[in-house]
Amino acid sequence: MKYLAEYLPRIGVVLVVIAGEVGEVELRKAGEQRLTVTVNETTEVIELPCKVDPLARPSIRHSEGAFEIRLKALKGAESRRADFTTLAAEDGWGRKELAHAELRCAACDGLLITGEACKRISAMPSEFWTELMDYWHCHKPADESAGAQQYLTKYNALLPADGELLVGDTFVTLGEGLLSEKLRTNDTVVICEACSAPLGVVTRERLLRLHKWNLVQVRSNGVRKRYRQASAVVAGLLSVLNSHAARVVHLRAESGSQLALWVFNVGLDVATPDGLIRCGLKILYTHDVESTMHAPSGRQHIEPMTMPDACFDDFVKHLETTNATLPPRCGKMGNWHISYIGML
Ligand SMILES: [Zn+2]
Ligand SMILES: [Zn+2]
Repeated sequence: MKYLAEYLPRIGVVLVVIAGEVGEVELRKAGEQRLTVTVNETTEVIELPCKVDPLARPSIRHSEGAFEIRLKALKGAESRRADFTTLAAEDGWGRKELAHAELRCAACDGLLITGEACKRISAMPSEFWTELMDYWHCHKPADESAGAQQYLTKYNALLPADGELLVGDTFVTLGEGLLSEKLRTNDTVVICEACSAPLGVVTRERLLRLHKWNLVQVRSNGVRKRYRQASAVVAGLLSVLNSHAARVVHLRAESGSQLALWVFNVGLDVATPDGLIRCGLKILYTHDVESTMHAPSGRQHIEPMTMPDACFDDFVKHLETTNATLPPRCGKMGNWHISYIGML
């Protein structure tokens, strides 16, 4: 069953669009956040992106090859939604996990840092949250002017102490004293001494910042954990939004593969057969980069962005996998394919 369930906070509705020809549709609520749907004798349990009122009667209609089901979101659902600050703690790359883990180079598996060697490991406030506060009117603190500004200033001034590891959403920053002969710098790039693979960047304060997607985390019980490589692209898109206010990006892999992307929305809670996405991005994409670049004038600035092949491929795979699970009318808009991706 192809479907898209989206939480629409402004109107307090969870809209579920299910592909299917006109026919029987039967709904059974299976708890506050689950729905059993039977369409023309096919049954599926849909995990909803937020809790719905079990007493409110849903509205159902059929149009353009799909059923549209409107459910009333539970009051207060907004405040219980995921916000960017809690995402990092849930992805298995937080302060607690890293305290007892080794960080190794993803390319050669060479040991770079151990949690034990750090005097302290601290979590940074979400880098995504900071970036988004600046650009989107979403999840902003109530006092917009002073508070938000202060937060940004503080955030940018966050520096690790001697021997401290600062853990962000997509990177770790090393305090002095954690520098080892395993890491080499080449101008602004941090490189693995053993295999010369790029690991991260040198910040303006001359600190080493390692991107999680270039690392492997090895826990004390031997479990190995890689960071989602697509997150590199998501982080790049958010910073492009933030610094250039550009929504259309010409994404290129180092190998030459390319894609035109349009960041349509940010901070969405949706569910597809591919899973639940919280605070995700709605992305329009097309492989037909040429006609996007030469679209009629009036098109806004298109920002170029180049990513390592592995990150590009992983990102595209995520977009395509999710797109394939959407009802046709939710997955295409003109020449653009539509998809959703989580921040982490
Ligand atoms: Zn290496
Ligand atoms: Zn939001």
